[in-house]
Amino acid sequence: MEKNKIWLSPPHLGGNELKYIQSALDTNGVSQYGSNIDEFEKRLENYFGKDSFVTALSSGTAAIHLALRLLNVEEGDFVICQSFTFVASANPILYQRAIPVFVDSEASTWNMCPNALEDAVKYCLQQGKKPKAIIAVSSYGMPFMVDEILGISRKYEIPVIEDSAGALGSTYKNRPCGTFGDLSVVSFNGNKIITTSGGGILISRSKTNKERALSFSTQANENKEYYSYSDIGYNYRMSNISAGIGIGQLDVLEDRVLKRRENHEFYQDILGNDETIRLLEEPSEDFFSNYWLNTVTIGGNNYGITKEKLKKIFSKNNIETRYLWKPMHLQTLYKGYRFFGNNICGMLFEAGLCLPSGTNLSAEDKNRIADVLKNLRK
Ligand SMILES: *Cc1c(COP(=O)(O)O)cnc(C)c1O
Repeated sequence: MEKNKIWLSPPHLGGNELKYIQSALDTNGVSQYGSNIDEFEKRLENYFGKDSFVTALSSGTAAIHLALRLLNVEEGDFVICQSFTFVASANPILYQRAIPVFVDSEASTWNMCPNALEDAVKYCLQQGKKPKAIIAVSSYGMPFMVDEILGISRKYEIPVIEDSAGALGSTYKNRPCGTFGDLSVVSFNGNKIITTSGGGILISRSKTNKERALSFSTQANENKEYYSYSDIGYNYRMSNISAGIGIGQLDVLEDRVLKRRENHEFYQDILGNDETIRLLEEPSEDFFSNYWLNTVTIGGNNYGITKEKLKKIFSKNNIETRYLWKPMHLQTLYKGYRFFGNNICGMLFEAGLCLPSGTNLSAEDKNRIADVLKNLRK
């Protein structure tokens, strides 16, 4: 008999979602207004703490786009972006007809390399234009080198957009991801640690920016007696139904982080001393990852395994895995744009794989995964 499919990171309901959806239905709150949105934003503001103002949106991609709008990114501007990321970090730069300048990763977190970032900034300055923003990503839940990246941001006075789309629940020096950027982004897409079925938030450091984001997300209507516009807006607001799912999911966030970290321990137990299949670990006590996805790189080649072979073996066992991000500077879409660094991110793409990391992995699922990994070495 075919065994059930083990997914990379499927949605995992907490149990209270229906209650909040029902209350929206009961009060006819089936739109982009209502008590669930208000409550969702308020709870998130409490979670992030002081100086965090949350705007609930239709996706993480929308949040990154609005971050660029709030920073007045326009045609021809430079925006520096981590190359090793999901395409949604970079596409909004093109929405604005701005020019992406891509930056390599460093080997300890796989996120933005501070040295390569500084080289990229200097290049832009030599072209006579200060970059309008730096988009730094906490890939797979691992915080980027926050102190170093923010240090460069301050030195050159360039704002940081923190793409923590997959890093809700992660911390750096005990501060939550989502609080490090001048503007920060979290996604609630169906594959993230918690979901609204599709959605995202922009976290601003001022009430004014929260209100500007809200306006941009609702067509930039000027709230006169008639429809009145002097700027381009979007239909980017989260629905009150989605926000209801989000509140139910926030109820279980803490548990979900624990579960993902238990998954990480499970992989540590199997792969801890393995020189060939190496698991990404927190580089120091400063870093606390939600381990949204567990990721490995394959090297040394002690038993003839490659990422392609490993993926195939998992697939035969009806277990989903995924290659690591193919860096943006290697994508046809971004051909011709500048890249700074030593192509560490390209090597990661060549060598790496994401392993199943859902919070609803059963003991039996884990046995099946463990069997695959242990059998490799026989
Ligand atoms: C998921 C993700 C996004 C996009 O979020 P959506 O809500 O799917 O639009 C952006 N950046 C990174 C790093 C992501 O993982």
